[in-house]
Amino acid sequence: MTTITHQQKKLFTNMTLINGSNPKPIKDACLLVSGQRIEFAGKKNELDTIPQSCETIDCQGQYMIPGLIDCHIHLDLHGFGDTYQENLVEDKFRTLRAATEMENTLKAGFTTVRSVGSVNGIDFAVKAGIEQGLVQGPRILAAGKIISMTCSGTEYFDGMYVLADGCEACKKAAREQLRDGADMLKVMATGAVMNPGGVPGAPQLDEDEIRAVVEEGNKLGCHTAAHAHGAQGIINAVRAGVRTIEHGTMADEAALEIMAKAGTFLVPTMSLHDRFEAHADEIPPFMLEKGRQMQEAYFGIIKKAAAMGIPIAMGTDAGTNYNFHGLNAAEIVFFVKHDILTPELALASATRVAAQAIQMDHEVGTLEPGKWADFVLLDKNPLEDIRTLADPKAILAVYKDGEKI
Ligand SMILES: [Zn+2]
Repeated sequence: MTTITHQQKKLFTNMTLINGSNPKPIKDACLLVSGQRIEFAGKKNELDTIPQSCETIDCQGQYMIPGLIDCHIHLDLHGFGDTYQENLVEDKFRTLRAATEMENTLKAGFTTVRSVGSVNGIDFAVKAGIEQGLVQGPRILAAGKIISMTCSGTEYFDGMYVLADGCEACKKAAREQLRDGADMLKVMATGAVMNPGGVPGAPQLDEDEIRAVVEEGNKLGCHTAAHAHGAQGIINAVRAGVRTIEHGTMADEAALEIMAKAGTFLVPTMSLHDRFEAHADEIPPFMLEKGRQMQEAYFGIIKKAAAMGIPIAMGTDAGTNYNFHGLNAAEIVFFVKHDILTPELALASATRVAAQAIQMDHEVGTLEPGKWADFVLLDKNPLEDIRTLADPKAILAVYKDGEKI
């Protein structure tokens, strides 16, 4: 057991604090860290007593934000132009590579990630390595393998899917992931873009099959995320009780309404389309074509979802084509650049709202007493220029558990 001594207290002072819960930045703020947790965060003159013999870090002119959260990554995919190449890399090497790429992610200010689909349990291994201090990386919520019905296309990501047909098989697949260490579960509610056989608009697992997975997760307090492009698949997943809809690319009025009513979180993955276009000659034509077909309506759908009060949580699909780990903040910038969310809401999508989406809001997402001391110091106000978040030179320091990375 660790005993917290006064020597382990750190006082960060004189900065502007964007704490994630108060929409307005707090000037002349300070943050007191005791061990790994936050003891105080707020106006300097509201801190009763400065503990004796605590380390003081002067952050004059700097901006402090909560550690960022990415709700949708694939930690063992590397970002090849043709995702099929992922199959050609051996698992042992992928594990090492994933560990390094998680370090890049952490250095970019992302102190928590949710890995929604991994090959052969690599996410569990990398998570354990980070927790045991062997490598540096963000907190990881891991899904293990994605639960999918038997369909064409899963061969594109060998080892990433567990095939299950019928409620009993879905229940078993969920139990297997939970046994192996899953913190949450992921299902395929529709076809995908990233494999040749996938039909994004077509529903896949049925409502009762998804419900079987959701109920297994609920027993252990673990939520379920659903990959869903088409409207019917979204509706099936929401009815079945999933917590987050991933992508939501082809949501119609009815799908958005049921999400709003159920309070389901939406994790759009939008900025990857910019990367598709920037590297169009290296992306397999079938992927490019499917991506382009959906892109035009996507902006309007996400804007509408936000206007209907559907909570938008930030996810990048990092690991997919040219979507490299460590460039995660591009998605937040994309939201603002395309007028989808205001800078305040875009930042919230990767902090407070993201934490709620992944059921971690009691631990992370805002800078408040009792939470993990995960934060980022910036040299500019990200609410005035959101690109600050994606600029490595503007990131002055990243802290996780009160420790500087
Ligand atoms: Zn994904």
